[in-house]
Amino acid sequence: MNRIFVNEPERDFSNPKVKENMEKAIAAVELELGKDYPLVIGGEKIFTEKKTTSINPCKKDQVIGYASNASKELADKAIRVAYDTYEEWRLVPTRVKYDYIMRLIGVLQKRRYEIAAWMILETGKNFGEADGEICEAIDFFNAYAQGAVYLEEHPVPLVESTVENNRSEYRPIGVGLVIPPWNFPFSIMAGMVISAVVTGNTVCIKPASDAPITTCKFVEMCEEAGIPAGVINLIPGSGSEIGDFVVDHPLTRFINFTGSKAVGLRIAERAAKVNEGQKWIKRIIAEMGGKNAIVVDSSADLRWAAKQAAAAAFTFQGQKCSACSRAIVLSDVYDEFLTYFKEEAESYQQGAGKDNMDICAVINKASFDKIASMIEQGKSEGRLITGGTYDDSVGFYVKPTIIADVDPKTSVIANQEIFGPVVAVMKVDTFEDAIDLANATEYGLTGSVFSANRENIEYAKDNFFVGNLYINRKCTGAVVYNHPFGGYNMSGTTAKTGTVDYLYNFVQLKSISENIVY
Ligand code: NAP
Ligand code: MG
Repeated sequence: MNRIFVNEPERDFSNPKVKENMEKAIAAVELELGKDYPLVIGGEKIFTEKKTTSINPCKKDQVIGYASNASKELADKAIRVAYDTYEEWRLVPTRVKYDYIMRLIGVLQKRRYEIAAWMILETGKNFGEADGEICEAIDFFNAYAQGAVYLEEHPVPLVESTVENNRSEYRPIGVGLVIPPWNFPFSIMAGMVISAVVTGNTVCIKPASDAPITTCKFVEMCEEAGIPAGVINLIPGSGSEIGDFVVDHPLTRFINFTGSKAVGLRIAERAAKVNEGQKWIKRIIAEMGGKNAIVVDSSADLRWAAKQAAAAAFTFQGQKCSACSRAIVLSDVYDEFLTYFKEEAESYQQGAGKDNMDICAVINKASFDKIASMIEQGKSEGRLITGGTYDDSVGFYVKPTIIADVDPKTSVIANQEIFGPVVAVMKVDTFEDAIDLANATEYGLTGSVFSANRENIEYAKDNFFVGNLYINRKCTGAVVYNHPFGGYNMSGTTAKTGTVDYLYNFVQLKSISENIVY
């Protein structure tokens, strides 16, 4: 296609008019709360008795909506419908699929404030975080639609032959399960769907149980954009109830998963087993957790490092896979860095997403309890610098927490993913030690280095083992086509979202050779 990729600009909520539009959208969405949502199979909307209740984490007694759960029978039906639809969808020309995705972008642009409002209420995002997701989703849609065209136009080059007409073509692979996390309920989920669909596959989405309503809205928009029934099916339900069933299903060709290491590894293990009636080895894309570190050396701009570290650690309550949860600081600047880091953490105003506060509530009770227990553990493992308190009387609020002087080897908070606004700070003597320590985790998602020392920066480029390395900036906020996203080691299969590379996960190369001289 003759279009140039441009990142979607974020809305400026310091403009009173823009802020007012968002507030109006939230007020309008509040009138829609508490409704029942159907699951969707082949375009058919089915309401079931058993439902997933979605709540507002900032106001825990507020119900966002009830998503109809798929039983195993309905999940089986959805996979079979996706399988049948695949036979037609795989043959739809790429440019037609491209046009559906462009139309979807148009629908999303029209409903942009409204969709952001659903996310704000369902997952405790502030305005900027929610709008950022809309931008990322639009970027994913553009990137994958253009990428699908690119793949079609750039098959593997072959040698010329005078006796054969040889061709290579990327073809889709089949029915995919999309199993997204709740923390980017729109952009990650929608990116996982559209990448697979625009390359010719059909999908069943099993949304995260903490954010099913945002997914219902996305599926509604896909229908509005005219994407044919059966291409995108929606089967909400608890992962522990239907997860194994859909992963094991013999017609499931691939599983596109983003979430925790424990669930990712479980899926990978189960998917490796060939079940009755299955004709392929299932493909797994599993993007998982992190224990991301920032490294601050003696030459760093310490105020800047502290500001960026706080942004990476505390925005969206530390619930980003890329969030900073360890700070590794050279001993000669350790105390000064801690002073600034504390100031930054204490500058974050906490409250409800709908009030556009800097930081809001963590996703649910189980998460709140886990983070609280990690904080108590941390207090016994190190020196509490700030935070350390939490309150779930109205919503699941946890104060930004910094714990210093923790032992990198023995402390739990320096080694386990917390997925909340908690940072373990550690002191080291040399830059090499800092990088070794940064690497001393089973994960390898993101990392930042703050330094004015070129040698150290080069050393980090070669030796800091992460999928996304950032120098003198925060380790969160990857942008499509600027920072291909995906981690090393137990952080996942390095799927590298937001690029053409990502699309190779959903295609297989076919070689077609026609004898022209027989
Ligand atoms: P999670 O608990 O692993 O859940 C992820 C998804 O898996 C949900 O839809 C969940 O459904 C489903 N699931 C649970 N058990 C399953 C099973 N046995 N079979 C199939 N599916 C199952 O993760 P989360 O709490 O939603 O998200 C947080 C995690 O995601 C963190 O570890 C974070 O680092 C990671 N993450 C990684 C990336 C990345 O790009 N690397 C991006 C975002 C998040 P239910 O909700 O019904 O349990
Ligand atoms: Mg979960």
